[in-house]
Amino acid sequence: MQTLLGDEATALFAALANDSVAGLRVNTLKLAPDTFRQGSSFDLTPIPWTTSGFVIDKAERAGKHPFHEAGLYYLQEPSAMTVAEALAPKPGDWVIDLAAAPGGKSTHLSALMNDTGLLVSNEVNRKRCSALLENLERWGSKNVLITSAELSQLAHPWEGLFDKVLLDAPCSGEGMFRKSADALAMWSETTVEQCALRQTKLIIEAAKLVKPEGYLSYSTCTFSPEENEQIIDAFLETHPEFSLIPIVLKGLSQGQPSWSANHPESRHHESLSQTARLWPHKQKGEGHFIALLKRQVGFEKKTKYHAFKDAEAKDIKLWREFSAGSELERLSQDKQLVSFDKRLFALPQNLPQLDKVQTLRAGLFLGWLEKNRFEPSHALALALSSSQAQNLNHLNLGLDDPRLEAYLQGQMIEAQGEPGWLLICAETYPLGWGKRSGLSVKNNLPKGLRWR
Ligand code: SAM
Repeated sequence: MQTLLGDEATALFAALANDSVAGLRVNTLKLAPDTFRQGSSFDLTPIPWTTSGFVIDKAERAGKHPFHEAGLYYLQEPSAMTVAEALAPKPGDWVIDLAAAPGGKSTHLSALMNDTGLLVSNEVNRKRCSALLENLERWGSKNVLITSAELSQLAHPWEGLFDKVLLDAPCSGEGMFRKSADALAMWSETTVEQCALRQTKLIIEAAKLVKPEGYLSYSTCTFSPEENEQIIDAFLETHPEFSLIPIVLKGLSQGQPSWSANHPESRHHESLSQTARLWPHKQKGEGHFIALLKRQVGFEKKTKYHAFKDAEAKDIKLWREFSAGSELERLSQDKQLVSFDKRLFALPQNLPQLDKVQTLRAGLFLGWLEKNRFEPSHALALALSSSQAQNLNHLNLGLDDPRLEAYLQGQMIEAQGEPGWLLICAETYPLGWGKRSGLSVKNNLPKGLRWR
């Protein structure tokens, strides 16, 4: 960096000695950023490149807060918020996030798509998939597929299928140095070389999934040119059907064409300045690199859809009885109802072929099919908006109500009202289910999510 940046390196090194910058991104599927900000006691400062994100002072408090449990926001360092904004998915798009865990970019993409179309969140490392699932469930995303596959396994079924493809690549993590002592300890020049080799292969696999006229975004949270400009330069050399396009977000720095391996011979010298960088000494954040590429028009393959078997009539009946005449009915409108292992799901119509792809979640998990009764899932509670919740049997608990913390700890709470299932809300935002009998409300929060 000293060699590459010259005098500017001093500013970078000084910034790396400071504390990291934390960010909070509001879940626009659940509420407007302004509404959140006005009603929140957090110290929030807007971020130039996104309308839903803020720099937050003292993020620890936000990590353990009822509104976090209600999925009203995701804690994400500010520069990472550029990635989904740059890809700019539109409602109805088919989007795939290829290295998705723990779900920072996937939750952002889902919000930008207004949870329409299809978001595939893929994560090869199974151990990281539970956090991804938990985060997308809390976010309330319904039009999702969560898969766990090597990228090389995806091209066969899904070649040329997606409007937008994101490869947020595994990298040497130089932008993690302020947040994680481990990231610093694990860094070496060999790590950078190994990561670059892996990224070279992964971006080639990612490109296969892009539709003609579709977009591919490549990002890392590292500064090394070997993992950034040089990956894109080499990719463009072998993929003339792709070209870089400008990233029109406020406040970003340009990529560095002169850092490409072939400089000054690179044929892509001019266009590499259309990549973007964020630096801890220039932007408020930990640092990122993004390249946005467009695939030229080409042959469009006919999409093969997966043929799911409909749930049995008796199972659908249980759901219909549970949801009849209420806001819940809407969650299965225009969806296919499918059951696996005594669990009922509402799937978006027309999902891609899944035969060879390990799928951990498809659509919205509605609940369990018990003998002669339906039990709602936690995901179902979190998929409901505040206004939908207010039209169902609910219990609103204010932030200063001691029952709120008791509920989040998994305790039984007391409240008068009709017996049966009720949605427990933080203020008006659904947190999970309880089941009332007499004065007592039995706690239905999943054990793994309870506060200790
Ligand atoms: N996009 C995520 C987010 O915003 O929360 C962060 C992704 S992280 C930078 C990179 C991910 O790549 C990790 O989850 C890691 O498990 C995954 N990964 C590691 N090796 C991989 C490989 N060979 N192919 C695909 N993904 C890989």
